[in-house]
Amino acid sequence: MSRTTISYKRRKIVFQRDKHTCVYCKRKAETIIEQTGRSGAPIITLLISDDWKPFEIDHKIPISKGGSNEIKNLLTCCARCNNLKATMSYYEFKKRKLWLKIG
Ligand SMILES: [Zn+2]
Repeated sequence: MSRTTISYKRRKIVFQRDKHTCVYCKRKAETIIEQTGRSGAPIITLLISDDWKPFEIDHKIPISKGGSNEIKNLLTCCARCNNLKATMSYYEFKKRKLWLKIG
């Protein structure tokens, strides 16, 4: 899992582009919460009633492998897939389809 500082605006654009749906398992977020964080900056959170864990932004090419925070390198990913994917690349994870083996 990677900790990154992706702006609210960028997260919102990526979530909208992907139709609030995890690019891997195709589960769609049912609840979209927009609120103001403690610092005054807006926060967007996508939730799914299966587990109520917030969706994450995933990097198609990880930062550690030269990927960037550009929108084209960012993907909508549910917490479950993000957890299963761990350090795997986008292509490796897609190929293995690990999310099909659970739930
Ligand atoms: Zn998923």
